[in-house]
Parts: sequence; structure tokens; C-alpha cells
Amino acid sequence: MTELSGRKAVITGGGTGIGLACAARLAAMGIETILMGRQLERLEAAAATLPDARAIRCDVTDDDSVTAAFSAAGPVDILVNNAGIAAAKAFHRTSMPEWQNIQAVNVDGLVRCTLAVIGSMRTADYARIINIASIAGLRGGAYVAPYSASKHAVVGLTKSLSLEYAKTRLTVNAVCPGYVETQIVEDSVANIMAKTGRTREEAIAELAKTNPQGRLIQPDEVAETVAWLCSPLSGSVSGQAIMISGGAI
Ligand code: NAD
Repeated sequence: MTELSGRKAVITGGGTGIGLACAARLAAMGIETILMGRQLERLEAAAATLPDARAIRCDVTDDDSVTAAFSAAGPVDILVNNAGIAAAKAFHRTSMPEWQNIQAVNVDGLVRCTLAVIGSMRTADYARIINIASIAGLRGGAYVAPYSASKHAVVGLTKSLSLEYAKTRLTVNAVCPGYVETQIVEDSVANIMAKTGRTREEAIAELAKTNPQGRLIQPDEVAETVAWLCSPLSGSVSGQAIMISGGAI
């Protein structure tokens, strides 16, 4: 038993990368975890590796899908808004559908899931919303304008909601990682290799250079901060955008 045993957490995009690491860390704290995402088989396989975990299909860009998923989940104590996509491209080559696609997942999808839980969270005796933003939500980045703009929106939303619900028991925080070793970074590495002719090692080194520690961050390191934000004693921490970046400021 831990102090959070019996609490329930939803992790969107919970079948892979940072989301799965968060689910595993919260499960180790005795929290019931619900992994939401688009690929039910992959989610079920991930949930089967965790105690007291289940998978629910959910596409965060779809109203009906989100409504059905959160209705199947029942009341939720912790929401980790993790589902996200990234793309790297020169801004002048970006089409409106490409821009909208990123905002649809990273911003609208996160808002949709937040709206699905906010009604019960604002009157609960304990509630946490943790948004997985990015270091790109705190500063600009060449070739990632739509992604950076989407994560700035997440940080702005986080700060506003934390003020709006400050008198309740809900805290709302964002975590802002640098490059984390997941599929998103694998895709960036492939993109750099294709566009610049660099080797895989050179492409990884290019990304790692943005981290003063000179390395990629591990998903478990992000999950550790998420776990701390869930603890009852973090109740006075709200509206923060916490960098997990090897010292990049
Ligand atoms: P990932 O690709 O493994 O995880 C993203 C998850 O979101 C996947 O499971 C994917 O299926 C899910 N997803 C995408 N669109 C969805 C939709 N419409 N509905 C439901 N689920 C959807 O990569 P990751 O690095 O673990 O990314 C997780 C989060 O961390 C993202 O929000 C990302 O922006 C953020 N992030 C990642 C890094 C990094 O370097 N990897 C750095 C900073 C922030």
C-alpha cells in the first residue's frame, strides 16, 4: 500500500515512450492506470505488463472517441496528457493541414481530454493534471514552429488552469523535456539522416548537443517528475512548467 493506492490515472498515448514510462511509474505507486491511445492491441500488450492496468481505445482528436473512453474509464484522479506528435520542416514549406494536424493532437486533443475530467476534478478531494509539454514550449525552435507553438499553448493553458482552479484540490502542471529517447526522436534522427546525409550516430549527436549533459534523456526520468507531481505533498506546486533538460535553460 502507498498513499496513492486506489487512485486512478489516465495516461493518453500510454502505450509507448514517455506515456508508458509514466504508466509504469504510477502503477508502481499502487495507482490504477488506464492507458488510452489509438492502437488497442499495442495498449493491451503494454497494460498486461503492469499491475492493475487496462487499455481503452481513444483518439484524442475525436469528440466521440474521447467521450466514450472517459465514460468507460469512470472518475479519474490523475490525467497525464501525454499524446502528442511532432514534425520538423521549414516553416515556408508547411501547409495549413500540416499545421492543423499538430494543433489537433497536441492542443485540441489535450483540451478535449482535460474537459472530460475537469467537472469531477474541480470538486474532488485530490486531483492532478500533468501535461507533457516540451522545452519547445518555452523557447522557439527553427524548423519546428507548429510543434513549438502547440507546446507554448500547452504551457499557457497549464498556467491559466492552475490559477482558475487554485482554490480547489486540483493542481495543473506541465513537464518540459528536452530530447527523450523515444519513437519521436527516432523519427527526428531518420529525418536528419535523410535530409543531411549524416550517419545515425552523427544525427543523435546533433540532438544530444542541445542538452548541456550531452545526452538524450530517458523516459523514466520524465516519469519520475510526473510521479512527484502526483504525490500529495506536491499539492502546493501548480502552474509550473518544469524543464527536464539536462540543465538547458
Ligand atoms: P511517442 O511517439 O512514443 O508517444 C506519443 C504517443 O501519442 C504515441 O503512443 C501515439 O500513439 C500517441 N498519439 C498520437 N496521436 C494520438 C491521438 N490522436 N490519439 C491518441 N494518442 C495519440 O513519443 P514520446 O516521445 O513518448 O511522446 C510523448 C509526449 O512527449 C508527446 O506529447 C511529445 O510531444 C512529448 N515530448 C517528447 C519529447 C521527445 O524528445 N521524445 C520531448 C519533449 C516532449
